[in-house]
Amino acid sequence: MLYLLPALLGALTLFTGCNAFELATATGNEVCKQYNASHVAFDYAFRGTDWVTNPKGAWKCGGSHQSPVDYMTSDYQYVPVNCSASVQLGAPNVSSAGVLNLPQWQIEVLGSFKGNGLAVPVCNGTDVGCLNSPGVQPKYVYATIANYHFHTPSEHTLDGEYLALESHLVTLVSQKDVPACPAAGCLVVWGAWYRISNSQTNNTFLDQIEPYINGSGAGCTALPTDKTINLVDAFPRDRTYVTYSGSLTTPPCTEGVLWVSFQSPLQVSSQQLLAISNAMNNVRDCLHTPQGAACASTGFQADSRMLQDLNGRQLHKFSPPSGYQPS
Ligand SMILES: [Zn+2]
Repeated sequence: MLYLLPALLGALTLFTGCNAFELATATGNEVCKQYNASHVAFDYAFRGTDWVTNPKGAWKCGGSHQSPVDYMTSDYQYVPVNCSASVQLGAPNVSSAGVLNLPQWQIEVLGSFKGNGLAVPVCNGTDVGCLNSPGVQPKYVYATIANYHFHTPSEHTLDGEYLALESHLVTLVSQKDVPACPAAGCLVVWGAWYRISNSQTNNTFLDQIEPYINGSGAGCTALPTDKTINLVDAFPRDRTYVTYSGSLTTPPCTEGVLWVSFQSPLQVSSQQLLAISNAMNNVRDCLHTPQGAACASTGFQADSRMLQDLNGRQLHKFSPPSGYQPS
């Protein structure tokens, strides 16, 4: 998704170690009234396979560097990422936030996010993520948050397995910091998987936003001004991630997106998954919704795009060294 909220970049910081991983506490405020819908119309009736030929606009969905892709659990094919060139999740703050239900298929957490902390290595002034610059000492720049949203089932897969839920934190690296980026910025998407918890323990991050998800249809719910969203549990404690150059998974399927996919799934309870799926009109609990038969007729839907071929792209993997201690 492309919501280009104001980029509020801070001063640059050089990261020298592997332990600069802090997470955020966010303060909520109303953001819904600021939301200016600019969506292109598309759906998941064909899991995105029809987007290639869709005549609406200059979509790139037929490109050769598309997302999502499958990740293998075996390591033999990955290019290792060293600490000196790993991404850093710091402490972004959210000054205002709202939870938006888009018609039929999507939930997004929008906000006037600000602050620093999502640090991305850049090599040779142009290589965001340093995927093509082995041995080069990176400069770090901050990415700012555009939105946070979900897909059910997951889009990226693990050894061909679809997980219950995948979250995408969409961020931007400013052209001001990296002149090689387009005017709108370079996209970096931070992905996390959710697997259903055996113990049915609620995920504490999802607990924070679930009250604001409108289960009965589209709309936008502004968080109270005194509401805080804490992002500590939005990413796994195990910071192992796979990174590669891909695309947006929705039209216009823009390429040149740096993906950072954390490999250790988070836990979600069945109740939370149902609440999110219901709100996105995917797997509907029609027994407990007022729509009744009309609800049931919608059947199973998904909001995840079909897997795309790697087409020769390399996958890179960061495995935290022993002693790595995210805060
Ligand atoms: Zn997404």
